[in-house]
Amino acid sequence: MVRDLDHWIDGKTVPRGTQPAMTVHGPVDRRSVASVALGGASHVADAVAAARGAGPDWADRAPVERGRLLLAVSSALRERAEEFVEVEVEETGKLVSEMRGGLGVAADYFEYYGGVVRALFGETIGLGSGDHAFTTREPYGVVGMITPWNGPLTQAARGMAAALAAGNTVVVKPSEFTSSTTLMLARLCEEVGVPPGVVNVVLGTGAEVGAALVDHPDVRLLAFTGSVTTGRAVAEGAARRLVPTILELGGKSANVVFADADLDRVVESALTICVGAGQQCAALSRLLVQHEVHDELLDRVAAAMRERVPGERLAPMTTEGQFEKVVEYFDVAARDGARLVVGGRAASGETAAGRYVEATVYADVTPQMRIFREEVFGPVLAVSRFGTEDEAVAMANDSDFGLVASVWTRDSGRALRVASRMEAGQVIVNGGRTGIETPFGGYKSSGLGREKGFESLLHYTQLKTTVVSTR
Ligand code: NAD
Repeated sequence: MVRDLDHWIDGKTVPRGTQPAMTVHGPVDRRSVASVALGGASHVADAVAAARGAGPDWADRAPVERGRLLLAVSSALRERAEEFVEVEVEETGKLVSEMRGGLGVAADYFEYYGGVVRALFGETIGLGSGDHAFTTREPYGVVGMITPWNGPLTQAARGMAAALAAGNTVVVKPSEFTSSTTLMLARLCEEVGVPPGVVNVVLGTGAEVGAALVDHPDVRLLAFTGSVTTGRAVAEGAARRLVPTILELGGKSANVVFADADLDRVVESALTICVGAGQQCAALSRLLVQHEVHDELLDRVAAAMRERVPGERLAPMTTEGQFEKVVEYFDVAARDGARLVVGGRAASGETAAGRYVEATVYADVTPQMRIFREEVFGPVLAVSRFGTEDEAVAMANDSDFGLVASVWTRDSGRALRVASRMEAGQVIVNGGRTGIETPFGGYKSSGLGREKGFESLLHYTQLKTTVVSTR
């Protein structure tokens, strides 16, 4: 069945009329799965007006009241999990098990921000007798959110939950390739009692709808998740209007393995490059291994990657553009002289009807090669070797990106030393578990600001200082 997707503005579906539309072809077999209305500046204007209209009442509600509605969204998401999972699997190609995990994360965002907003408070500032000063955290008003195709539901939930908890209203522009679950989430919000206009979704391309959202004078904060190139364009537009941005961009994260590491756990960690077929910003796509254990680890990782059969234990590339990009990187890596150990081709046989590529490992990757420096966004692991701790740190930091870094060693002194030298917004030592509670975001070209954690709630508020004379 081909789903017709239309904008959701002020609590209503906007009839498509004569608007242009785009057909989305699913990644598993390239069959048509959705027909997406392609909106324009007028739809953005309507959605922003609705969000602005709904703003004062939403912002005036007690945090506990907004929080309870967000908790209701969380419960409804869990109750309706399979509906969301089925639709998002069809559009992204994620494995069902991966998407069930993603659904849980989306529900967690609403649960976390629905609760933690009650702990948002300001400070008092001592000025001596006669004056009383205090700070309050206020919403910005309308937040414009632009999300990518690799984790449509979780990306939408991440920003929306924090923005709404803080008292903002939102206009979301999902990726034109994966719009369904964002629309379903907006409807769900309304079903549990979030008033019309608080959540709006405008569908369409980045050039039309995304750019119109960035330029709209009543959008007071922009939260963008996507590529570095588009993030720059969003930041430039925001700079022209002097509005703040939260930018969650790409990565080329290093997984640094010292010879004393627990190699069983390292193999598991290296294989996370296959989660979502590597289409994750936080993918640990560079495996840097100390000389003494390099060959053993490479053999073990290669053997495990060989078992990730496309279509069974490995998802496809979500978009045609992404599929072509990964296939092109196979040529790039070969030309640059990387040693192919496993994979390196588009999938053949039954899965060739879909956008599948093989789980791939390159060894002898040097910092000059493009697969060391550029985000492939596929199940492609670049393995390099190092000798000393200083070399490991220099190699890990030799990147324009700085989203995540991972370090494996049983030496706790070295673990802390290396972690503190990593140029990354999040450092994971020996496979530490991250969650909604742990702030996430990039150093360098990986972005600005932080999502997740209490920190994100602060990003979705602006600080007001009030000074009262008591004389
Ligand atoms: P993209 O930058 O092409 O698109 C992202 C969104 O921006 C889409 O909705 C798109 O329509 C819109 N857009 C495109 N041009 C625009 C413009 N000129 N103005 C405004 N909006 C515009 O990214 P993508 O290919 O959809 O997603 C993949 C990228 O996202 C990867 O680089 C990945 O690392 C990154 N990502 C980052 C995070 C994170 O949290 N750091 C999470 C997921 C994905």
